[in-house]
Amino acid sequence: MSLQPSMPKSWRVDTKPHKFCPGCGHGLVLKALGQAIDELGIQDRVVFGCDIGCSLLAWDFFNVDALQTHHGRTHPVMTGIKRANPDLICIGYMGDGGGYAIGSQHLVNAAARNERITAILVNNAQYGMTGGQMAPTTLPGMKTETTPYGRDVDLTGYPCQGPEMVAAITREGAYVARATVLKPVLLKNYIKKAIKNQMDGNGYSFVECLSTCPTNWRTNNVETISFIENDMAKYYHVGEIKVPDTKEPLMVKTSTKSSTGGIE
Ligand code: SF4
Repeated sequence: MSLQPSMPKSWRVDTKPHKFCPGCGHGLVLKALGQAIDELGIQDRVVFGCDIGCSLLAWDFFNVDALQTHHGRTHPVMTGIKRANPDLICIGYMGDGGGYAIGSQHLVNAAARNERITAILVNNAQYGMTGGQMAPTTLPGMKTETTPYGRDVDLTGYPCQGPEMVAAITREGAYVARATVLKPVLLKNYIKKAIKNQMDGNGYSFVECLSTCPTNWRTNNVETISFIENDMAKYYHVGEIKVPDTKEPLMVKTSTKSSTGGIE
């Protein structure tokens, strides 16, 4: 099916069947990414790397060069492509499991080396595709398949504050932000800034996106929005955390205290 002239070029609205669950936030993040690519006019230069997990379904939605990486290995794959051909715009897309658990070593080292790539990480507080197990981002007290009585921080530690960690270990030139699917314009602007930062040759760019997973959260529409708005956003602060022209992070959360009790 050909796209109508008015349709965005880089992302496909004709993908059928839609593979994400109803109410999933991935579609909003991907739409924002497509808008950012179009507005920057870089469709022909983009290489899009998808991690394993629900994030892998993303490649169905783009008319750009895309490839699938092994679980957690999106950062080194994007790094290799970028180093081999610096003119390409390398964008990695991953979930919180792929980025903060199995791929954490790659994320940390790519950030510390200030690789000129852009990473977009979807944080929905658990492992989505495998059925809702605890992830590094699971909130204290939050019930998952592997924490049926709620995440116990004495046993499993506190949730990973990914952007704050990245802001702390990157040099000047990095761009770091946390967005939410509840604010799609802000989400698109942060992603666009992150890509532009790569185009300008400044350094590593990282945007974490708070996102919904009603299937594994077992929430209805109202509960889904409430959880991301009232539980996740309290623990994970939305905003820009590091911009290229500052040497120090704009805000780094060091407190390990959280008032959230998670989702019942
Ligand atoms: S399992 Fe969760 S993250 Fe995966 S597609 Fe369904 S709603 Fe989205």
